[in-house]
Amino acid sequence: MKNRALKRLIYGLSIILASLPFFSFAIASSVQHDTVVTNGYKLKTVVIDAGHGTRPNGSHSGASGSYSTESNVTLQIALKLQKAIEKDVPDVKVVMTRTTEADVGLKARSEIANANKGDLFISIHCNSLSDTHRREVVGHRKGKAIYKTVSVPDRSGKGVLFLVYGFHRSEEEQEALRENLFEEKDNTEQSNVLDDPASIITINAFKAKYRKQSIHFANLLNTEFTEVDGRHSDGVKEQGVLVLCHSAMPAVLVETGFINNHEEEDFLNSEDGQNQIVASIVRALGSYKAEVEQVSQ
Ligand SMILES: [Zn+2]
Repeated sequence: MKNRALKRLIYGLSIILASLPFFSFAIASSVQHDTVVTNGYKLKTVVIDAGHGTRPNGSHSGASGSYSTESNVTLQIALKLQKAIEKDVPDVKVVMTRTTEADVGLKARSEIANANKGDLFISIHCNSLSDTHRREVVGHRKGKAIYKTVSVPDRSGKGVLFLVYGFHRSEEEQEALRENLFEEKDNTEQSNVLDDPASIITINAFKAKYRKQSIHFANLLNTEFTEVDGRHSDGVKEQGVLVLCHSAMPAVLVETGFINNHEEEDFLNSEDGQNQIVASIVRALGSYKAEVEQVSQ
């Protein structure tokens, strides 16, 4: 009982500590988990995740426009982004979750990111609005109208949106963090990690830090896309996105535009459009890298 009260106290304390701006991990590192030391931190590895892909049966997951698919557009943007980061952001290694049209499972994407010790996960997607439904009169019988529900494509979606993981998926994120932070321990030890107050502090501190950094990077992206490119934006939102919550690092999903809006589909498929999107992400990444490296010194 006493032990439980102590744990509760430590848990509460860890939340308070983790919510302090730019919590430095000085306390967590003093509990002897080397992985927590962030002094002299360098952002070394960026994981680029081209959303969706083509399944073995030829179908593709994701949204479609009138002549292009999200799966193909995200791959084109991701490949351009890879080249641009390698050229313009020195000392950063880029890891791709896919480089071909073939779909990769969501879990596998996070596993690639975690195995490569990514410092930042950028998932590229295209948005789309679902059809709206309308009741239409299709005839009359005995003086009464006969109705049918028809689907009407909604092509009014416009602009960008940035998603970071929501709190309701935090258990899964916690699991990913636990595996990544304590991977050197064997399985029996791992299962005891969540009983260890020091580990609880560490995991909670990382969770809060990654969430804060994800939101910060998303805001930097939002500024580049809106203020430099003049794109419309639905802003930064929290959502339970599986591929984000399994990745034990700051992670942002970029909805680059609405593929089922004809004008935006043309933009997303054009060289200029793709280059503009890539340039915005690279600028935001540059600012983010400079800031996180500055903070940890
Ligand atoms: Zn998508």
